[in-house]
Amino acid sequence: MSYTIHKITAIVDGTLLNDTPFDYVIEHLLTDTRRILSASTSLFFAFKGMRQDGHDFMAAAYEKGVRNFVVTQQIEATEYPESNFIFVSNAHQAIHRLVRFHRQQFNIPVIGITGSNGKTVVKEWLFQLLHPDFRIVRSPRSYNSQLGVPLSVWQMQAQHELGIFEAGISTTGEMEKVSPIIQCNIGVFTNIGSAHDEGFPNRKTKIEEKLRLFGAAQVLIYCSDYPEIEAAVSTLEHLQTLTWSKHQAADLTIKSIESTAKETLIAATFQQKNIQFAIPFQDEASIENAIHCCLVLLHLGISPDTIAARMQELETVAMRLESRQGISNCLIINDSYNSDLTSLSMALDFLEQQSTHTKHTLVLSDILQSGTASEALYRSLAQRINEKIIHRLIGIGQEIDKLKPHLHSSTQTHFFAHTQDFLDHFEALHFQSEAILLKGARAFQFERIANRLAERIHQTILEVNITALLYNLNAFSQYLKPKTKMMVMVKAAAYGSGSVEIARLLEFQNMDYLAVAYADEGVELRKAGIQLPIMVLNPEESSFEAHFQYDLEPEIYSMPLLKKFIRYLPDQGNVPIHLKIETGMNRLGFEAQDLPDLLAILNNEPRLKIQSIFSHLAASEAPNHDTFTKQQVERFTNIYERICAALNYRPLQHILNTSGIIRFPEYQFDMVRLGIGLYGLDNGKDIQDQLQIVNSLKARISQIKDVRLSESVGYGRKGQLERDSRIATVSIGYADGLPRSVGNGRYSLLIRGELAPIVGNVCMDMCMVDVTDIPLAQEGDEVLIFGEQLPVDRLAAAARTIPLEIFTGITQRVKRVYFQE
Ligand SMILES: *Cc1c(COP(=O)(O)O)cnc(C)c1O
Repeated sequence: MSYTIHKITAIVDGTLLNDTPFDYVIEHLLTDTRRILSASTSLFFAFKGMRQDGHDFMAAAYEKGVRNFVVTQQIEATEYPESNFIFVSNAHQAIHRLVRFHRQQFNIPVIGITGSNGKTVVKEWLFQLLHPDFRIVRSPRSYNSQLGVPLSVWQMQAQHELGIFEAGISTTGEMEKVSPIIQCNIGVFTNIGSAHDEGFPNRKTKIEEKLRLFGAAQVLIYCSDYPEIEAAVSTLEHLQTLTWSKHQAADLTIKSIESTAKETLIAATFQQKNIQFAIPFQDEASIENAIHCCLVLLHLGISPDTIAARMQELETVAMRLESRQGISNCLIINDSYNSDLTSLSMALDFLEQQSTHTKHTLVLSDILQSGTASEALYRSLAQRINEKIIHRLIGIGQEIDKLKPHLHSSTQTHFFAHTQDFLDHFEALHFQSEAILLKGARAFQFERIANRLAERIHQTILEVNITALLYNLNAFSQYLKPKTKMMVMVKAAAYGSGSVEIARLLEFQNMDYLAVAYADEGVELRKAGIQLPIMVLNPEESSFEAHFQYDLEPEIYSMPLLKKFIRYLPDQGNVPIHLKIETGMNRLGFEAQDLPDLLAILNNEPRLKIQSIFSHLAASEAPNHDTFTKQQVERFTNIYERICAALNYRPLQHILNTSGIIRFPEYQFDMVRLGIGLYGLDNGKDIQDQLQIVNSLKARISQIKDVRLSESVGYGRKGQLERDSRIATVSIGYADGLPRSVGNGRYSLLIRGELAPIVGNVCMDMCMVDVTDIPLAQEGDEVLIFGEQLPVDRLAAAARTIPLEIFTGITQRVKRVYFQE
């Protein structure tokens, strides 16, 4: 398939802006200038988003060698010599049209998957189950959005024999657009749940929307035990179905499901024949996903014996990309997601975002089961690696050294035939202060490498869900007008989540500003390479020099502070500062009576550049204080205008914090300051259900004892029992951040989905919980202190405080683990 610029222009129904087209053949579709792979064969789509305009990134793309652009506005072509511009009215529509055309060039079976949960697992398992029979192209990870679908389907190539793509939607009208791009012959509807309910008027509409994926399908595979799905499907007369059920007659009728410690045995009848298979999982979701897969395989004519044999080998789908501290100050990212080109690119991006190290190492295995001939595959792999800064590459496998001739000569390389050879040479490789990405197909057992590199860590961790954090960021962005800037508060180690890591992510997301509490925190960010402007809320005299040296911008809140600061000003240059106005919080800030003196100094001091003028709301979450809040805004605007009049320029004006963004969008002015909302908490509970939980605090059961009624538990013998009990000792105490005040039954921890009350006093490094009623609990089990299933508000309430104090009270010895779903 060869796409010239002429051809693409015709397909997307666009117009070429330049008179004489330049000859390029397009291979890659580019939607993010941070992900440029092969610039000269990439076509950049300048999307206009809520907050960003792709046209603003064209110069950067050109700089990196991109010469082909899809645009929706007039372009000064002379600024981009030798480039092509396809003008269209809607860039999203254009990419959809192009990929729809691409899809039509292939006449192979395509499986389309949608549903509330399980899409990615079903897709990956179908891949695991079917790759011996077909050369498969599939969506990478969970690339199922309006943009993810076209980028997935664009991967289809002549050598492929089967496509498996997933589609997820969040509101009406979306499926209609992606359905003709996937154009599936075989449909799978996994299930229906509450995800994205807010995007649809009701559940019925949501199901009907999802069903649009199957418009062209010859058969739809689903579980008829969901009455709402069953009802909606029955209205579609032309659609052939293959159903399965646990409770009623179906094409595949499940007779029994029996779980043992190791596996689950599933017996069923399909077309009057008994079939049976076992999967190495026991949870409900896995069982449902496996049965969907079984029915797809039966439909494709795979024999029950083969199905049974392959089901036994099913592997967990690694959905997460996770980074954690390793030995010798290394950062370890272990990604065992089935290795392919796209997932490698994603993992490399994650490495770039997460790493605070200047040295990057990639440990990579052979790529298994790819449809591409290996020479070409390793050439493109090398190309992707060359685009990133990788200082050394360690290849493991029989084929991986084919990379070598294509890598930058500056990349150090080591090759080993087997994982064991690598481990035998481990010491000689001297891992030290580097970020290490492990990317190995499962057969290579890279978990052995991960374990070797892992720091023997205290088993108590704070998990930070980056996917959820980005989701929240987006939820708040939706409130902003296109020009409103976003400052994100990363004070107090980003509310306990880890300042450098979060700041990197925010920088990558093109936020406008960061704010920290003290200069030290800003210095740490600068040392880690953060380049965004940083405001310091509490500049102290001892830190003024650091402000100049590290380009930090102080909040100046009083005349004495201003006068002191001026004494330190360098002789020349512009020093950016922010003015804080007191309007009702009665904490820090200039008051109206300071204005004459303030303005006199500012007018006399050209070295000071007022970057912004701001104030802080005291009760933006509370409707009963709305009159007061409005008064604060009024005072603020009044003072802001008086300062501007004297300055002759208008610094950025801002006052809204998290609750303000939600409740007073009319007061956005030039910028807002997002804090706690980023972590999924909404003090006013206005949009709590639209946010996702970011932080989970987890520990483990160290030991379990049977304790008699007559005995006691813990210090001071405070833990008195009411019956003979099973008591579990958990690896978290007040020195980790579990408040001592929640001991003696005032709070319970979650073990295997059930609450276990704390018995006796919380100790410094441990606490004890009652697991008498959780018979399955065993040593080594994970214990949730707070997280998605146990909201932090509960712990805060038990400790008579607020979630922020809990978050910021989690001490440094608790390792932060960042993951992306
Ligand atoms: C902490 C802080 C914020 C953020 O407040 P949230 O309620 O967490 O959004 C905003 N502005 C200032 C000055 C702050 O100190």
